[in-house]
Amino acid sequence: MKLFEHHQVRSVTQAIRLLERYGGRAKLNAGGTDLLGLLKADVLPEYPEAVIDIKPIRNLKKIKLEKGLLKIGALVKLADLAESSLMRSQYPILAEAALRIGSPQLRNVATIGGNLCQDVRCWYYRYPCHIGGPILCLRKGGNTCPAVRGDHRYHAIMGGKGCMAVCPSDLATALSVYDAQVVISGPDGERNVLIMDFYYPLGYALQKNEMVKEVFLPPIPQSSKQKFIKFTLRKPIDFALVSVACLLGFKGDEVADARIALGAISPSPIRAYGAEKRLIGSPINETIVHEVAEIALRDTKPLSGNGYKVNIAKTLIKRVLADLRFNQKVDR
Ligand SMILES: Cc1cc2nc3c(=O)[nH]c(=O)nc-3n(C[C@H](O)[C@H](O)[C@H](O)COP(=O)(O)OP(=O)(O)OC[C@H]3O[C@@H](n4cnc5c(N)ncnc54)[C@H](O)[C@@H]3O)c2cc1C
Ligand code: SF4
Repeated sequence: MKLFEHHQVRSVTQAIRLLERYGGRAKLNAGGTDLLGLLKADVLPEYPEAVIDIKPIRNLKKIKLEKGLLKIGALVKLADLAESSLMRSQYPILAEAALRIGSPQLRNVATIGGNLCQDVRCWYYRYPCHIGGPILCLRKGGNTCPAVRGDHRYHAIMGGKGCMAVCPSDLATALSVYDAQVVISGPDGERNVLIMDFYYPLGYALQKNEMVKEVFLPPIPQSSKQKFIKFTLRKPIDFALVSVACLLGFKGDEVADARIALGAISPSPIRAYGAEKRLIGSPINETIVHEVAEIALRDTKPLSGNGYKVNIAKTLIKRVLADLRFNQKVDR
C-alpha cells in the first residue's frame, strides 16, 4: 500500500467536512472489504490522499421502522440484514440477497453503504498495477472500453453507455423491487435518490463531498410473495452472472401487483416495467410466464460473447414466477 492520511470520524458532519477538505482525494472506509483490496492492488484511478474511517458513527448502524418506512443506516452490516427477523419476514428479498453475498466473515464486516458503493468488478479495471497495470479505460482516463472488443463474458447486455461493467451489488437489485431511496448527505443537507437512479455510467449519484447516510423502503403491499434468485458459476461465494428479484401480490389466482428487478446485466439494476404490466390482471400460467420473460429481456443488446446471459435471465424469470405461484420455497 502507498501512504495515506487516516482519520476516524464520529458523525456524518465530520465525515462531510473531511470529504470537502480533501476535494475528492479522500475515500470513506466502512467495512473496508472492497476498499482495502483496491488500495493494496493500486487499482483506483487516483490513489487517495486520505482514508476516512466512518465505522465509529453510531447512528448509522440501526434498522428501524418509522411511520411505515423501513430505514437502514449505511453502516448496517450484511449479516444484520440477513439475520434480522423483521427483514426475513417482511423484506425476504433483501435478507436473502444479503445472505447470498460472500462468506460469514465478509457479511460480519461489510456494510450496506459499502455494498451499494463498491467498485465495478471488471477485470480490465481491476488489473493490478504491480503486474503490468493499469489498463487504461473510460474509468481510468482512457478513451475506449477494452472490454467491448476483449473478454466481456461477464459484462452488461443492456444499458451500457461506454462502460460495459455491470452493477456488482446484489443489494441494489433487491432494493429496486422495494422502490428504495438512497439518502445522500452533503454540505447542503440531504437529498433522496431512487436506487435505480443511483448508478451513473461511470460512477454514482454522489458528489465528491457527499456520502450515503441511509436507505429507506416504502411500505410494501400486504401479503405479497417475494423471491430472490441469483445465478452464479460457483455456488458458495460468487458474484451474480444474473439475478432476479420478484414481488407478487395476488387477488385470487390473478396477479394484482408485480415487481421484477434484474441484476448483473446492466450498469444499474433494471426494473422490468413492461413485463410487470403484462403480469397484472393475469393468472400465472405457462403462456404468460413465457411472454413475460420475453418482454423483460426484449431491449437487451448483448456483446458478441455474452448473449448467454439473456437465456439465463429468461430462465430465472420463469423459475421465480413459477415458484411464487406454486410454492414459497427459498432457493439457496
Ligand atoms: C470474496 C468476495 C465476494 C463478494 N461477493 C459479492 C456478491 O456476491 N454480491 C455483492 O453484492 N457483493 C459481493 N462482494 C462485495 C462486497 O459485498 C463488498 O465488498 C462490501 O459490501 C463492501 O462493503 P464495505 O462496508 O466493506 O465497503 P468498503 O470496502 O468500506 O467501501 C466500498 C466503497 O464504498 C465507499 N463507501 C463505503 N461506505 C460509504 C458510504 N456510506 N457513503 C458513500 N460511500 C461509501 C467506499 O469509499 C469505497 O469506495 C464480495 C466481496 C468479496 C471480497
Ligand atoms: S467495462 Fe468499464 S471498467 Fe471495464 S474496461 Fe470497460 S470502461 Fe473500463
